[in-house]
Parts: sequence; structure tokens; C-alpha cells
Amino acid sequence: MRRVPVVLVVEDEPAIAELISVNLKHSGFRPVWAMDAATAQAELDSAVPDVVLLDWMLPGESGLTLAKRWRAHPRTKSVPIIMLTARGDEVDRVAGLDAGADDYIAKPFSTKELLARIRAVLRRRAPEQDAGAVKVGDLTLDTSTYRVTFAEEALKLGPTEFKLLHYLMTHAERVQSRAQLLDKVWGDHVYIEERTVDVHVKRLREAMGAAGAMVDTVRGAGYRLTLQTAPQKQAAV
Ligand code: CA
Repeated sequence: MRRVPVVLVVEDEPAIAELISVNLKHSGFRPVWAMDAATAQAELDSAVPDVVLLDWMLPGESGLTLAKRWRAHPRTKSVPIIMLTARGDEVDRVAGLDAGADDYIAKPFSTKELLARIRAVLRRRAPEQDAGAVKVGDLTLDTSTYRVTFAEEALKLGPTEFKLLHYLMTHAERVQSRAQLLDKVWGDHVYIEERTVDVHVKRLREAMGAAGAMVDTVRGAGYRLTLQTAPQKQAAV
């Protein structure tokens, strides 16, 4: 049986917390309500939830302070955080994202949209959570040790290239458009140009050496990782 994802709702207004909780329950999540920063911290100390919905304006510490602290802590640094707030302007959006929030939703919001955003962060985080090795041909990537090898030789990749390769490997042989890669690897709240993908693909190929040939450009469509263009291992003499 699938485990019910736990959503920690950090919100000081009971009416909003109640509305969110009811909708979460109906959609197959288990909401846990924390009405202030201290309670939220205590909840997080006892169990790391699957997602945190974090109100900005809270009694005591602000949501922004909490997000920053949780991001800095190894135990909670990868928990998805969606900031929830009445502050809608750009400066605050940027501050929220800078503090480490995965997404941002301004009040008043539709519960439908909120649920869609929760599902989106869960989908994006999912590949990181199943730690372990992914193998495509002679190429191996291990998310628990952050090691990438080709034919037993270690490759040195930057963090974005690592994420990019992980995504391509877990979706091997399938063409991914630049927009898809931006969404899955960078996250769709990031306003960057599709050209950025090309830059990182180029870096990835360079870092992969001979194995870089496995990252195939599909003209007019995007990229894919494929065994069809994989270099042959040198035969032993
Ligand atoms: Ca509030």
C-alpha cells in the first residue's frame, strides 16, 4: 500500500488552516497543523513531512526565517517548502525563493491550484528521494554518494549537470524538450531561458568525456540519453 504523504501546514489563521486541511484530506494527504513557528519546529523535530506549506506572517519567527533555518539544516534541507502568503509582490517572491522555498503562492489562492503545486513539488522531489544507483549501459550514477562513473572511471560533474544527468538517465531513450528539462531539473518557478539548458548540456557532455556522446541532440525536439550513441569500451588486448 502507498504511504499517505504528510503535509505540514504552518498557518496561524485557523480558518485558512482548516480550509487547507479539509482539502488536503479529500485529496489523499495527511495534514498536520502548526499554528506558530515554535509548534512547526517541534513538528519538524519529531518527523520530517513530505511537504511544508509555510505562511510568511506568523506570530514569533516569520516563515522566511523558518525556511532559511530548515534549508541550512542537513535533516530538513531537502524538504519541499511552499510559501503561503498575502504578500504578492515581486521583491517578496524573490526573498521567499532565495530563502529556499520551492514554490510560492499568494493569498487568496484557489485550493485547486494549491493542490496542483503540492503535487508538482512532490513530483520534482521524487527522483532525489529514491537514493541509490541508476545504471544505463556502462554509465552509473549514485545519488547517495553523488558519484558518477563510466566504465568504472569517475566523472566530475557540477550540481546542475548531476541533476540533469540523473533526470536523463531515469528517463533514458526518451526525448526531453528543453521546457520539460527546465521544469524537471530547475523547477518551473525559475524564470530562465531555454538556452540555459543548452549551456548545461554542453558542460555535461564535456564533463562526461567519451560518454558525452550518449547525450543525444534530437533536432527540433530536445535531448535524450541513449545507448545507441554510447562509446564502445576498449577491448582488452
Ligand atoms: Ca499569517
